Amino acid sequence: MARCGVCGRRAPLTTSSLGLCVGCIRGAPADLEVRIAKVHARSRQFFHLPQEAPRGPSGIRCDLCVRQCLIPPGEVGYCAVRQNIGGRLRGGSPKQGNLSWYYDPLPTNCVADWVCPAGTGAGHPRWAYRDGPEYGYKNLAVFYQACSFNCLGCQNWHYREVSRSGPGVSAAELAGQVDARTACICFFGGDPSPQLPHSLATSMLARRRAPGRVLRVCWETNGAMHPRLLRRAMRIALESGGCIKFDLKAWNDGVHRALTGCSNRRTLENFALAAEMARSRPDPPAVVVSTLLVPGYVDVEEVAPLARFIASFDPGIPYSLLAFHPQLSLHDLPVTSIQHAERALAAAKEAGLTRIHLGNRHLLGEPYELERRSRIAGVGGQGSGSRGWSA
Ligand code: SF4
Ligand code: SF4
Ligand SMILES: [Zn+2]
Repeated sequence: MARCGVCGRRAPLTTSSLGLCVGCIRGAPADLEVRIAKVHARSRQFFHLPQEAPRGPSGIRCDLCVRQCLIPPGEVGYCAVRQNIGGRLRGGSPKQGNLSWYYDPLPTNCVADWVCPAGTGAGHPRWAYRDGPEYGYKNLAVFYQACSFNCLGCQNWHYREVSRSGPGVSAAELAGQVDARTACICFFGGDPSPQLPHSLATSMLARRRAPGRVLRVCWETNGAMHPRLLRRAMRIALESGGCIKFDLKAWNDGVHRALTGCSNRRTLENFALAAEMARSRPDPPAVVVSTLLVPGYVDVEEVAPLARFIASFDPGIPYSLLAFHPQLSLHDLPVTSIQHAERALAAAKEAGLTRIHLGNRHLLGEPYELERRSRIAGVGGQGSGSRGWSA
């Protein structure tokens, strides 16, 4: 339980790493910008990552993502994977991927498995090998070891220890791992944005080596890349039967900045662009959305407007709500409660979305203290009923 540095209230769902309750963050985001930036800078120090995006006047501009770093000679960008070496930008190019990869037997626990061809056979025979889950096939899972955000509760934070480890795998080498049993490639991380040229080159090489057969290409991303790169990724996903999985972390920009160290503006604009492009191939869905239900911060006030925003493009866009597990700087928050998940699912349904799903449900926990108290007082009707997990 931490005290909010603005209103002074102690609350069990206020993390000590921010020292700010969600109400105060929503109330005065501009006043808290410097304070929030300091929290993120400190958390990055631990991993020897740049504390902020470099703005060196003599630097080279990188525009792969929203950070728009100006990287001075000999230094690295915010993501730590792009470097200015001798006046040229290195890292993230087709020759130099900082990544790890593995084969994942299908159907896998991908954020879109409940709607995609691999998990359901959607689009068979054009986009899937089987008219149901693709047993006997595999996914080439590519984990890019750098990110353009700094999520305080990152669920995959170990990549931060190796973001600076230098180039590893070329696009040609990686594309060579696609064999006859590989039905899809998934680029995730970290985030693929700082290395998008690498994943785009890999996709094109891999698809060229597999003419006339199913090979879907998907990305899972925070969505903050340059829009020209998103367009290229979207075209490949559309042509291959794949999808782009957007992680929309919060609707309120202050809450988004507090949790990720970055505004959500570029992500929401990019989502709008992808959702428009996705209209040309509604099935299997070419865009899928997920939101992590961070206790105390990503509540119904975030989920409801996010769901309305998604539904404004197409109510059939699949939306997956994910249970949170305490990690990293958010280690003092509990797991998402069942009641919290039920309220979020109901809000998404209320917004008009028709394909809603709850992921990581095995992580769901007991009611939060406030929920327990209101239940005892007999006012906890919201979310305590027996709604299903999917709608
Ligand atoms: S990578 Fe794409 S096709 Fe493969 S399991 Fe994930 S969403 Fe489905
Ligand atoms: S990819 Fe983004 S974070 Fe990395 S150097 Fe380029 S602009 Fe900066
Ligand atoms: Zn407060």
